[in-house]
Amino acid sequence: MARIVELEVEALADPYNPQLFVRLMSDDGYTSVGETWWGTYQPMSKPGTPVFAIGVFVETLLRPLTIGQPCDTVADIEALWQRLVRATIQYGHEGIVSTAISGVDIAVWDLVAKRQGVPVTTLLGPVVHDAIPVYASLTWLGDVDRVCRDAERALSAGIRAVKLHEANVDLILEVRRRLGPSVPLMVDASARFDEDGAIAAAERLADADLVWFEEPVYPQSDHAALARVRQTATMPIAAGENEFGLAGLERLVTSGAVDILQPEIAKFGGLTPARGVGEMARLAGIPMYPHNYSLGPSLLANIHWAMTSPAARWLEVPWLSEGGTFPCGMPMPELVDGCVLPPTAPGLGYTGH
Ligand SMILES: [Mg+2]
Repeated sequence: MARIVELEVEALADPYNPQLFVRLMSDDGYTSVGETWWGTYQPMSKPGTPVFAIGVFVETLLRPLTIGQPCDTVADIEALWQRLVRATIQYGHEGIVSTAISGVDIAVWDLVAKRQGVPVTTLLGPVVHDAIPVYASLTWLGDVDRVCRDAERALSAGIRAVKLHEANVDLILEVRRRLGPSVPLMVDASARFDEDGAIAAAERLADADLVWFEEPVYPQSDHAALARVRQTATMPIAAGENEFGLAGLERLVTSGAVDILQPEIAKFGGLTPARGVGEMARLAGIPMYPHNYSLGPSLLANIHWAMTSPAARWLEVPWLSEGGTFPCGMPMPELVDGCVLPPTAPGLGYTGH
């Protein structure tokens, strides 16, 4: 039986796109990598530093619980996940706790799959998609010219759909006009509206032929308000990235608040609970498009998860402005006709630094 003998946290403190990696080593010499959510951009804090709060939690609380645990089978992964959740319950189920657990969990899936010499999909399996289309998720820009430039750059790179992070309806309508009617276009308002504002925005955006309208309402936890927006909106409503556990995701589905579920694997606990989330979406008949804002191990975890989830249909890839990069330096996954294909390398297949 192989065991985990080391856990290291690596914080990549980029000012705008920090990343937090969890690296594991087994006693037979395999290494692996996972990634937590990175907190969020905090204008009040020193650039890049939000990841350190999560890193300290991993190092002080999760590391001692992880070292010494077996890493041979999926049952070992599940046992470790239960161990981490049980031991940290006094700190809550969600937020930094579930985020930190996500990073360790993703790393353990990578480790077990590498030791077995198979892609993570083989452990999650079976693969149910030949290919999944990706969409370019633009940053908040607030400027029509910059939005169109970044969108055109994404389309030139072979990505066939574009999601804006904007809440200015005039700007969105102008972007649609300039890009033309054939580009699949999504809008993510990042919860910038109250309920009435969201209803009004959705009404004006009816002519923009959006694939979906995402997180229109603040607070994100007000599922009832979101459900009321959905009742009047003509386009599908999407949300889910700010739920940090299965219970919240289930409430979102059962409250009739969304047409599309967008869970964030690096927030709600990693690949272990992800299987249940995917199954919940499938049973509810709701498509599940994993949320992602990383080029790194968590994007790869999303790809493995989506490939084995019947409800998955789109994958989100960040599209940083003017050719910006993530600190780990991982390139965009290879695309064929705007789609990612099922991974074949052992583990997650991470090839960054
Ligand atoms: Mg979003």
